[in-house]
Amino acid sequence: MAVQPPSIVNKPYRLAEIIKETPDVDTFRFKSEDGSKLAFDPGMFVMLTWPGKGTEQKITRAFSIASAPNSDELEFEIHMIHGRFTSKLDSAKVGDIYTVTGPYGQFRFVPKEDRKVLFIAGGTGLAPFMSMLRELRINGYDNDVVLLYSVRYPDEIIRKDELKELEAALKLKMVICVTRPTEERSAGWIGETGHVSAEMVKKHAPDFMDRTAYICGPLGFVKAVQDVLTQLNVPKEKVKADVWG
Ligand SMILES: Cc1cc2nc3c(=O)[nH]c(=O)nc-3n(C[C@H](O)[C@H](O)[C@H](O)COP(=O)(O)OP(=O)(O)OC[C@H]3O[C@@H](n4cnc5c(N)ncnc54)[C@H](O)[C@@H]3O)c2cc1C
Repeated sequence: MAVQPPSIVNKPYRLAEIIKETPDVDTFRFKSEDGSKLAFDPGMFVMLTWPGKGTEQKITRAFSIASAPNSDELEFEIHMIHGRFTSKLDSAKVGDIYTVTGPYGQFRFVPKEDRKVLFIAGGTGLAPFMSMLRELRINGYDNDVVLLYSVRYPDEIIRKDELKELEAALKLKMVICVTRPTEERSAGWIGETGHVSAEMVKKHAPDFMDRTAYICGPLGFVKAVQDVLTQLNVPKEKVKADVWG
């Protein structure tokens, strides 16, 4: 199959808002300079470029789109690891211009094709699922969704209030799993605990064989979840994964 060319190349986007989401993750919202809207399937990513300054060269990184398709805005959930690109974002200001090329990726959710799904997110890997859930809500789709969302601590939950609203508005069962429940930072947590396991999948999505599984997160997380699904005999063609590492 021929690779589809990107629908936009180095298009200017102005930074419109920065939200401190969790201790390590910021939400960055950009708006296209010419007001045009980007079409993509939820789950896809774009290449975001910091344009460079003085003698410093431009830097480009991939980011999953967290916002819904067909908007003049693009939202990203970015783990601020103070690397080459993210350290530029550390000092970014509303009004700064970046450029965007894309969209790209095979990690695509088409609501009309996948009616029953199991979304499994690790940390910032929630980003593409935000796009998917927002798309379902905007279009009034009634897809049957189970979301297993793994974080180390409760204060790492991204978009907590919006997730609750989405749970109320959609046919969505959301299970947040805290992997470090005994530490002080997790004090008061009364929800699910532990890493995503076969038991957890069977408990919260007993009909997992009828669902298409989508996994996104760091490499170790994605591999561990793929192993869990293999252990449960889920066919490989029913599992889609997006790895960032
Ligand atoms: C398809 C795709 C989608 C992506 N979507 C997102 C997204 O939505 N949100 C997001 O935050 N990142 C996402 N990433 C990762 C992103 O592209 C960058 O790699 C990340 O922001 C680090 O870039 P940097 O230049 O700051 O770090 P670099 O200077 O490139 O790396 C610094 C060091 O940190 C390590 N590192 C890289 N990423 C991480 C990480 N996330 N956590 C811990 N250590 C890391 C590197 O291995 C390296 O050793 C995505 C990557 C891909 C391929």
